[in-house]
Amino acid sequence: MISQGTREQKILLMGLRRGGKSSIRQVIFHGMQPIETLYLESTTKPTSEKLSSLANFVIEEIPGQVDVTNPEFESSKVFKGASTVIYVIDSQDEYLLSLQNVVQVISQGYKIDRNIHFEILIHKVDGLSEDFRLDTKRDIIQRINDDLVDIGAYDADVTFHMTSIFDQSIVEALSRIIQKLVPELSSLTQLLDMFCMRTGVEKAFVFEASSKIYLATDSSPVDAEIYQVCSDFIDVSADLGGLYGTSANTGNSDGREFSTSRFNNGSVICLTRLIKGCLLVCLCTSETDNKITLVEFNADVFREGMEKIYA
Ligand code: GDP
Repeated sequence: MISQGTREQKILLMGLRRGGKSSIRQVIFHGMQPIETLYLESTTKPTSEKLSSLANFVIEEIPGQVDVTNPEFESSKVFKGASTVIYVIDSQDEYLLSLQNVVQVISQGYKIDRNIHFEILIHKVDGLSEDFRLDTKRDIIQRINDDLVDIGAYDADVTFHMTSIFDQSIVEALSRIIQKLVPELSSLTQLLDMFCMRTGVEKAFVFEASSKIYLATDSSPVDAEIYQVCSDFIDVSADLGGLYGTSANTGNSDGREFSTSRFNNGSVICLTRLIKGCLLVCLCTSETDNKITLVEFNADVFREGMEKIYA
């Protein structure tokens, strides 16, 4: 029998042309700089990305030209087996057409599988003023929800996210979206809570190393700045690793990776490599040498806990 953990989780990436789908794929999975996406060619063929970590994900981009209302569109084939549909709405453009389209997409997907998570990205919000952002969000949510009630899909599982590739909001949104598909999320959260409590660290994340999507975190709220610092430290550590063939301040003689960095304000950030392409990154706001030893020790205990969960 194949368990949920080994089954490939299909995520569809949909939305009208020029909404930003390929840019999101390129920035997150191929390290493209956001500004370079200006010159991206529009995708005309279905394209997919694989992410193998705590679960196996395949992200399939459906080109914006595909008309879901066309009788030739094989909705049963497209939506069957999908765990999630991510729909990208360009908030800087006239979005009424997108709203009609997303409701059609939800309607078709919902008929095929009521458990599909529909994740709506109100995208490119970097171009909107703070006030206009909130008005746009309210307007889009209201219109979509009204239409879903009209078509009888009021209980579809729909979540909205404000995103931009020019800040961390897109990774944050994708992290929340993908976390819903990690079968062992609650066990990992409990382990992280225990890790933070026993070690006295403020915040801990389990990142997928290549995309920097976080697959789990402890149950305290995520602060955007702390997330940013932890995420940036992955790059710093990788750059130093590339330069010296090892990571910053690596203390282990057994080849395991443990990196730390100390800030002027006394905070310390620590990174440990886990299993399945994951990294544990945590931030301590007050620091003593003993504490770092404890973090390193408990990070090992955390990794062993993870190995047991995924054995
Ligand atoms: P697709 O047809 O949905 O795949 O759209 P593309 O990924 O080709 O993006 C269309 C345009 O939107 C490109 O010029 C991107 O640079 C731009 N774009 C994508 N994401 C953002 C964003 O978050 N903010 C802004 N301002 N522009 C974006």
